[in-house]
Amino acid sequence: MKQRLPSLDTESGRRPSESGGRPNRAVPEATEHPAVKTLRLLAARHGNDPWNWHTQQTPFQVLIGTVLSQRTRDEKTDAAARALFSRYPSPEALAVARVEEIEALIRPVNYYRTKAKRIHDIGIILLARYKGRTPDTIAELMKLPGVGRKTASCVMVYGFGRPALPVDTHVHRIANRIGLVRTRVPEETERALCEVLPERHLMSCNELMVKHGQTICRPRSPKCGECPLASVCLYASTARERNHL
Ligand code: SF4
Repeated sequence: MKQRLPSLDTESGRRPSESGGRPNRAVPEATEHPAVKTLRLLAARHGNDPWNWHTQQTPFQVLIGTVLSQRTRDEKTDAAARALFSRYPSPEALAVARVEEIEALIRPVNYYRTKAKRIHDIGIILLARYKGRTPDTIAELMKLPGVGRKTASCVMVYGFGRPALPVDTHVHRIANRIGLVRTRVPEETERALCEVLPERHLMSCNELMVKHGQTICRPRSPKCGECPLASVCLYASTARERNHL
């Protein structure tokens, strides 16, 4: 089991190590960027407990778990990942597995046949090209089958603990609703957020916005009445104005 991501101080937005290990009671700076304020408020609401299993493992397992997670709910991803890693915990084991056996183990996830072939190929490629190691750059990760920019960024953040910003549907939707960005596609959202978020905040952005998107700022009928961001959110203020007309 890997270390958990370091937690944000919910008042300052800094991690504890950056305040000398002491709780930082400083009032948020007046110049705090809205994106930083958003993450601070989300950390205060959702905390820093991991919300799933498959992003808390080794880099290899985060890689395979994230491929399994594509277009699949977390609970099904976690069930499939646990079953798969109990039989095939490493690239060496995965590379010699039969694709039909992998299919049977990961059957809870969507597109399990396509994913079984992809993760089998990933095992073979990691052995052949990387001596069994998981590459630790986004560019190298994206050469693997089924690995796009979001999956590669997840491996960087959750597998290696390095700054990156995985932008999935939750991050893209919430950042646009709040008004932090005005973008059409996740790639633009990633660029826009990376321009304004200090590097120390990048690692918590995905986790906090996914938690928020799964519980409060859902795709349909967001629960603005119970949202800690309502006072700073463009979508909520527009809805308030509309209702007063
Ligand atoms: S106020 Fe509403 S739209 Fe804005 S972030 Fe919260 S739930 Fe989402």
